[in-house]
Amino acid sequence: MFDFVIAGAGFAGSVLAERLASQANKKVLLIDKRNHIGGNTFDYYNSDGILVHKYGPHIFHTNSRNVFDYLSMFTEWRPYEHHVLASVDGQLVPIPINQNTVNCLYGLDLTSEEVSAFFSGKSEKKYPVKTSEDVVINAVGKELYEKFFKGYTKKQWDLDPSELDASVTARVPTRTNRDNRYFTDIYQSMPLHGYTKMFENILAHPNIKVMLNTSYEEIKNVIPHVSLIFTGAIDSYFDYCYGRLPYRSLEFKFETHDADFIQSTGTVNYPNTQAYTRITEFKYLTGQKHAKTSVVYEYPKAEGDPYYPIPRPENNKMYKKYETLAETVPHVYFTGRLGTYKYYNMDQVVGQSLTLFKRIMQQEAATEHKIAGAGIEAKLVNLKYNPNGSTTE
Ligand code: FAD
Ligand code: UDP
Repeated sequence: MFDFVIAGAGFAGSVLAERLASQANKKVLLIDKRNHIGGNTFDYYNSDGILVHKYGPHIFHTNSRNVFDYLSMFTEWRPYEHHVLASVDGQLVPIPINQNTVNCLYGLDLTSEEVSAFFSGKSEKKYPVKTSEDVVINAVGKELYEKFFKGYTKKQWDLDPSELDASVTARVPTRTNRDNRYFTDIYQSMPLHGYTKMFENILAHPNIKVMLNTSYEEIKNVIPHVSLIFTGAIDSYFDYCYGRLPYRSLEFKFETHDADFIQSTGTVNYPNTQAYTRITEFKYLTGQKHAKTSVVYEYPKAEGDPYYPIPRPENNKMYKKYETLAETVPHVYFTGRLGTYKYYNMDQVVGQSLTLFKRIMQQEAATEHKIAGAGIEAKLVNLKYNPNGSTTE
C-alpha cells in the first residue's frame, strides 16, 4: 500500500514526491506515461554527444529565494542569462524591445528618455487592458506590435493577440534602457549537469518508487493507494465531462551542425517570415564545449502533447468547472501546468508544489485531529449511555 500515487514525473510531481518522502516519511509511487523522468524539462546527450532539451529550450529563472534554495539541494548551478534576437525587417534586433532595438531598427541614436518619448508618441492607450493586443499597443504602438508580436502570436497560438488574455504577451516586457537580457529575475542559472541529473537527485529517496511507461489509468484500480496527486491534464482525469480544455502543442526539429556555433545568441525569434517561431542553440544554455553544435526549431501545432494551456476567458471558465469538481473528490490533488491549467514557468510550478505540500500536511493533521476528537466524543457518549450503568469503559 502506497500513501501517495503521483501521476507525472515533471517538476510538479517530483517536488511533491521528494517532500512527502523526505519530510513526512510517506511511501510514494511516482509514475509517468513517458519513458523518462523530468517531464518537459527532460534533457539528454544526443548521438553526437551534445546535451539537448527534448521538449524545447528550458531556461531557469526565478525571483523566489525559496524555490532557488530548494532546488539548490539537488544541483549545482551554471550562471546563465538568456539573450534573444528577433528577425525583423531583415535585421536581428534584441527582444524584449528596448533602446537598442529601436536604435537598430530605425537607424537612430536615441537616449533612454528619447526612447521613452518615442514609445509615448506611438502607443495607443487602450483601457481596460484585457487582451494580448492591448498590452503591446499600449506600450509601443501598432507598428512595433505588428513587427514583433502579431505574426509570432498568430503562429504560436493560431489566434490573433486580441483573442488571448493580456497575460500572454505581458510575459515579454518593454524597456527604455539597453538591457538586452530576456529575463531580469534575481536568480538566472542552469542546472550544472542538466535537468535530468537534477531530477535523479530529487528522486533519490528510498521512500520513492518510480514507474515509467505507465499511465495513471493503467494502475488506478490495481495498485492500492490512499491519496493521489495528479499532474496530467485535469480534463483527462475527469474524462472530459465538461468538454476538452484546449492546449497548444509544438513539433521540435533538431539539427546538428559541424560548427562551433551557428547563431550569435541562445535564441533567435522569427515573428513573421518562417513557419517556426524560434531557433535555440543549446550550447549557449548549457555551456558545453563541443566541436559541433545542436539547435532546435519550434513549429507550433494544435494536435500532439499538450504543452501550453491557452489563456482566454472561455477556457478559464471551463477550467473553473473542473476545479470545482476536483474539490469534491477526497484524497485527490491537482497541481502543475496541466493539473491546474496555468501557463506556469518551472519556478512557479515548484513554488506551487511546495505550497501544496504544506496544504496536504495541514489537511492530514486536521483529519487526524478530527479522528482523535471523534474518538474522545465516542468515549464520552459511551460513558453517558452505558447500558450497564457502569462508569468504566
Ligand atoms: P510536465 O513537465 O508537463 O510534467 C507532467 C508529466 O505528467 C509529463 O511527463 C506527462 O507525461 C505526465 N502525465 C500526464 N498525464 C499522465 C497520466 N495520465 N499518467 C501518467 N503520467 C502522466 N519554463 C521555464 O521556467 N523556463 C523556460 O525556458 C521554459 N521553456 C519552455 C519551453 C517549452 C517549449 C515548453 C512547452 C515549456 C517551457 N517552460 C519553461 C515551462 C515548463 O516546461 C513547465 O513549467 C514545467 O515543465 C511544468 O512542470 P509540470 O510537472 O507541471 O508538467
Ligand atoms: N511573443 C511574441 N513575439 C516574440 C516573443 C513573444 O509575439 O518575439 C509573444 C507570443 O505570443 C508568445 C508570448 O509572447 O507566446 C510569450 O513569449 P515567451 O517567450 O514567454 O513564450 P514561451 O517561452 O513560454 O514559449
